Amino acid sequence: MSTTPTSNPHLDFPADFRGAVFRPGDDGYDEARAVYNGRAADSGPALIARCTDEEDVVTVLRYASAGDIPVAVRGGGHMSDGLAMPGGALVVDLSGMRALSVDPETRVVRAQPGVLLGELDAATQQHGLVVPAGTVSTTGVAGLTLGGGIGHLMRRFGATVDNLLACEMVTVDGRRVRADEKENPELFWALRGGGGNFGVVTAFEFQAHRVGPDVVSGQIIFPGDQAASILAKIPGHMADAPRELGLLIAITDAPPLPALPKEAHGRPVLVLVPVYTGDPETADKVIEPLAALGHSVANLVARTPWVQANSMLDAIAPYGVRMTLRGGYLPALTDDVIDVLLERAAAAPRHPDASTTFNVWCLGGAISEDVDEDAVAFSREGAAFLWEAVTMWQAPEHDARYDEWAEATLAAVRPHALANGYTNLTDDQGEEWRRGVHGSPEKFRRLTEVKTAWDPRNLLRHNKNITPADAG
Ligand SMILES: Cc1cc2nc3c(=O)[nH]c(=O)nc-3n(C[C@H](O)[C@H](O)[C@H](O)COP(=O)(O)OP(=O)(O)OC[C@H]3O[C@@H](n4cnc5c(N)ncnc54)[C@H](O)[C@@H]3O)c2cc1C
Repeated sequence: MSTTPTSNPHLDFPADFRGAVFRPGDDGYDEARAVYNGRAADSGPALIARCTDEEDVVTVLRYASAGDIPVAVRGGGHMSDGLAMPGGALVVDLSGMRALSVDPETRVVRAQPGVLLGELDAATQQHGLVVPAGTVSTTGVAGLTLGGGIGHLMRRFGATVDNLLACEMVTVDGRRVRADEKENPELFWALRGGGGNFGVVTAFEFQAHRVGPDVVSGQIIFPGDQAASILAKIPGHMADAPRELGLLIAITDAPPLPALPKEAHGRPVLVLVPVYTGDPETADKVIEPLAALGHSVANLVARTPWVQANSMLDAIAPYGVRMTLRGGYLPALTDDVIDVLLERAAAAPRHPDASTTFNVWCLGGAISEDVDEDAVAFSREGAAFLWEAVTMWQAPEHDARYDEWAEATLAAVRPHALANGYTNLTDDQGEEWRRGVHGSPEKFRRLTEVKTAWDPRNLLRHNKNITPADAG
């Protein structure tokens, strides 16, 4: 990473920009550059332009375009790579653009790019609605949607992009365009999974669905020595599960929860995280067989409001920690894969200020069956499960240990994984990975064409980059 710039390269930044501007040394600069991954704070951007509206986004992009200056884009600031705030960069900061509206008749939800998932849930639930999205309430709608968007509702309603109706976007040379099935359909195809490669999205329109207010969710915690046998039973169990059941599985060390016996604290555990959004009266029929997959040390499943269910993981996602993230799709949860996951979990470096969690997300249902692989850029072909290894720690001196463990873990799982994947739940895995992560070579060719048409100079390169054709 580059270091915090001492000189300011943007003295000619347009005076008619109406939002706040933060340069190194300014009051508020450190707060403005804080993002989820604390490692981003090791270096600082040259200028953060916090936009108040679309016109501000146009102003920054015209300035960047005229000077041939690459721009980084900050939505909710949650991406694990910290590329929303790269060292030395000019940043389009959208965190001030937070307008959100819900039409209860059409169930169409419109969100500006600074909106966070917790705000989206709170606003939609006032009308008994949800937009299917992610599981931690401080995550941004913008980056999550542009990458695909998965969560507790994906088996019932699909990925977030499967529920996206339109985007409004400012092009890198400062034009405003709309993208939907009729207007700029090829751009709309690319925006549904191709990430922040094509322009700066200033509004998203979603189709919401009825859910809640109550759902049945929580955690069923099993001792680590039962992990292999429970994981082996999961594929058979989920094959018959209703779409209303979302299931996330975590392999981790038990946190010191009061609900857990003291002797379990800090010991390896397998945690099932079911979220059942069908009729709460029928939940037992669905949840009890899950609990019966082993002998749990705690069963914390209960009837709760959806907003509580969809923020229960906030407690294990503290803002500002140092982190690495590796992940991908699995075609099956075979005994070989289970062995690798458990071996790598056991080999994770342990430290009092650190945590390591393997998440295994169960796909199937709407996300796997209802949308054609080629209908949007986001890929899910062949994926039955998504694995991700998340490590979080505080002290910079541990960076190398965790980076090495993460790379070795990726190498160990890769032979069992698919070439396609979900770009948002992993750090970048290199050029070959980027060529395959969206699925077929044809999809990559299409994405490259869209990139070349909308950002030929690759001004939007602080991302999982799709390189324009001419840039080689
Ligand atoms: C703790 C944690 C939990 C998570 N849980 C989930 C989950 O449950 N489900 C899931 O699907 N993902 C999840 N994610 C991953 C998440 O989807 C990505 O990190 C996503 O990028 C977050 O979006 P953001 O706007 O907060 O991020 P940012 O870091 O602000 O943006 C990420 C990138 O998106 C691009 N971008 C952002 N906004 C725009 C815009 N308006 N126009 C153009 N480009 C833009 C930029 O390239 C930027 O670098 C999680 C991540 C973390 C750290």
